[in-house]
Amino acid sequence: MTQTCQCGRPVADGYVCSRCTNDAKRHLDRIPDLATELDRAVTRQTGFGPQFRDFITGTNGQPLPIDWDVSIIAGALRHTLTSWTLLVIHETEHLQPADEQPATLAPWLRGHIDWFRGQRYGGEFFDELGAITDRCQRAIDAPPNRATITVGPCPQLAETGYCPGWVRAIIPEQQPAYMACIECDTRWETWQWRRAGKRILDRKLEA
Ligand SMILES: [Zn+2]
Ligand SMILES: [Zn+2]
Repeated sequence: MTQTCQCGRPVADGYVCSRCTNDAKRHLDRIPDLATELDRAVTRQTGFGPQFRDFITGTNGQPLPIDWDVSIIAGALRHTLTSWTLLVIHETEHLQPADEQPATLAPWLRGHIDWFRGQRYGGEFFDELGAITDRCQRAIDAPPNRATITVGPCPQLAETGYCPGWVRAIIPEQQPAYMACIECDTRWETWQWRRAGKRILDRKLEA
């Protein structure tokens, strides 16, 4: 019986067309590298490329505290892969992969791609793969010339608790970068980023 793929193409031998299946293979093939890049960004090794790093660290070498967001995306990637892996194990009684690292799970799931094509929810899995790999890529490729980045909730105390504003990093082409809150007008130069960044992260963790 002919089914219709989520992209609208007819499928004679499953629920997902060959083009969508090839996209999913491509995404799975990229995941090990993406995961490595994300880990690097999280640990601030090379995450954003030298040009971007120079912009955001200024002259004092204090990194911008935005890695938290990268780690959320890394967590989302793990979550997506793990939950679909568990589903395959449950449905097929296959032995589980050696560990839960994306570099292990992605090739393992790729080995089950034809099985997914035959499942009604195969297209859903392939869709999620596309969405999560896009998200990872965007996090890794934070544009080198982006002028403003939202860092997090303002850590300054106002009369009734924390300032409700958001701290943004402003990264001019020619001048040193700085962080600022429009709400309370606080401004942090690069040498103050480490302390301010820690307080912003603390607020994010509280939330
Ligand atoms: Zn399709
Ligand atoms: Zn503020």
